[in-house]
Amino acid sequence: MTTRRVRNKCQALVSTLTLPRPFSVERLIHDLSLQRGRAIRLRSLPSGFGAHACGLVISTDTADEIYVEEKTSRFHRDHIALHEIGHILMHHDNGGWEDPGALAGLLPSLDPEAIRRILGRTSYTTEQEQEAELVASLIRAKAGTLAPLPSTGVRGKLEVSLGIRE
Ligand SMILES: [Zn+2]
Repeated sequence: MTTRRVRNKCQALVSTLTLPRPFSVERLIHDLSLQRGRAIRLRSLPSGFGAHACGLVISTDTADEIYVEEKTSRFHRDHIALHEIGHILMHHDNGGWEDPGALAGLLPSLDPEAIRRILGRTSYTTEQEQEAELVASLIRAKAGTLAPLPSTGVRGKLEVSLGIRE
């Protein structure tokens, strides 16, 4: 159950976002990085980390790194990334790493055991998970309602001559 308070909070957040057109998660991440003056990076997590952990965020001094399980559908990857973006934008504290820099240093080696330990310490509250999930869904919904960019070139001229557009 999502409470009205949670829903209002998430809707307020998403309403402030200017989504790229055409929409893509990569472009959203790029835009958000510029707006926040703080990089967000999308990285792949090797598969096989269990059903609960398909994504995670590691915040370092300079960037927020989103790790998404690599062996999944494009749709699912996008959704996980948006969910993690939700955690970032909502300023969720995931229990705090003792030493985020050291953890980020571990990840490039993608040592499954190290990552499993990191994942084991991720502890968002249920409400934070609901918020992240709702933000992901609301971004998707908002992206879906954006009008397509006007067509250009031959097709645009054709549409004008046919009276479809001005
Ligand atoms: Zn989450």
